[in-house]
Amino acid sequence: MRAVVSTRCSAWPELGQSLIVFDLCCAAGDHRFEAWFASSDSFADQQARRLIACPVCGDSDVKKAVMAPRVGAKSNQLSVVAPARPIDAPAPGAISPELMRQVMADIAAKQAEILPQSRWVGRDFADAARAMHEGRAAEDLIHGQASPGEAQALRDDGIAAMPLLVPIVPPDAVN
Ligand SMILES: [Zn+2]
Repeated sequence: MRAVVSTRCSAWPELGQSLIVFDLCCAAGDHRFEAWFASSDSFADQQARRLIACPVCGDSDVKKAVMAPRVGAKSNQLSVVAPARPIDAPAPGAISPELMRQVMADIAAKQAEILPQSRWVGRDFADAARAMHEGRAAEDLIHGQASPGEAQALRDDGIAAMPLLVPIVPPDAVN
């Protein structure tokens, strides 16, 4: 699962390249899932504090999965968040990798802060984000899922999307 946050920041493709995606699995059910982190340290810290939850069963005892070749079926679902307030991000290319890591950590912290106020819209994310962008709906804090194609279409229309850096458990994945 990829988690995405939508912001007015247009630096998503550059920021995205600085993220690390780990294949993780939970101890309870050996469920495999992906999570994005600003750095290895960020993963280790969140793992130690049990902040990473399995999206299938909610177990927070997770570890890195043994890497398997990426072939065949792969989830095309993205989780997306659309803060009503833009998250400050510097212009890409103007900052060092070190600073970029710090920026990503700051963004992750901000996302963790705003998530409790954010409304889960599931697969309606792309439509809902577009409606807000076009003024057909009141601006609201939302997160949900979008396919890579939908996320790209949003970016093409100036509705930037970026990965949610804090793992979330979709409400419809919880019993
Ligand atoms: Zn699990």
